[in-house]
Amino acid sequence: MSLLRYVVLPLFLMSLLMQPVTAQSVDVSICRFKNDKPAAISLTFDDGLLDAYSVVKPLLAEYGYKGTFYVVTNWADNAANNTRPDRKFMTWEQVKAIAYAGHEIGNHSVKHYQLVKAKSMDDVLDEITHPLGIFQEKIGITPQTFCYPGNSRNDEIVKIAHEHHLYSTCFGRQMFGGEKYTHQQTVDWVNQTIANKKWSVAMIHAILQGYGWAPFPNGEKDFVAVLELLKQHDDELWIDTFVNVSKYVKLRDTSTLQWIEQDKILMLKTELDSKVYDQPLTVKIIKDGQSCYLPMYANAPISLQ
Ligand SMILES: [Zn+2]
Repeated sequence: MSLLRYVVLPLFLMSLLMQPVTAQSVDVSICRFKNDKPAAISLTFDDGLLDAYSVVKPLLAEYGYKGTFYVVTNWADNAANNTRPDRKFMTWEQVKAIAYAGHEIGNHSVKHYQLVKAKSMDDVLDEITHPLGIFQEKIGITPQTFCYPGNSRNDEIVKIAHEHHLYSTCFGRQMFGGEKYTHQQTVDWVNQTIANKKWSVAMIHAILQGYGWAPFPNGEKDFVAVLELLKQHDDELWIDTFVNVSKYVKLRDTSTLQWIEQDKILMLKTELDSKVYDQPLTVKIIKDGQSCYLPMYANAPISLQ
């Protein structure tokens, strides 16, 4: 009797308490990436160059991918009067057409100088926040992510960017293009991304010669080869915008799954604002020996009756 009272009964009660998290009949887990793909890639196109509109936009449509385009507001303002022979920029109308095609338009500052060289933190604040109103006025969208010009940043600059955006390019991106670019670099980068089950971000500038910094040596042909390679790995890669993957990762890393056995209800619990973190997570459910995947939104319960 004493054994039952002091050992077996408390263990039995503990097992009851643990049931809401993992029930015997249901096993649930959050997938690392959308649709249970092992790895993710975002394609980012910097500087608001004209070939992003004339070359990248139609090619992404053909392959069914969405990209992120980081636009510099002064360069878009002056696109029609640009006199630099080695740069061609998109007008706001062209930026708007990219946004309306479902791509992400991100903030790449007002003047595109290295923020660590700014005269004051007020200037940094202005470079990071002033574009938000301009994007809203010109294309009706407020960018959600920030890209540091020349990747120039320090902790203080990153802190300001994150106070005004959901996320930023605050980690290394893989550079594409430039004279020394080879397709093999991309093959290796894709293979490493998949092998390490991680999220990698491509940093692309010009596709064609004469449009901007670091064009591909073989122009459009090289970029098509990148897209073909990604397509070959469709089963292993989730390709999506920088903001969509960053939202997924943050929601994934701050959420817990709660299973209420009595009501057969599953809930993805998080402290994050579900209106902002509006991308569903893919949840794997194994019930009665059968497995399935469900998209689950933050703090929205689903019934598994
Ligand atoms: Zn740039």
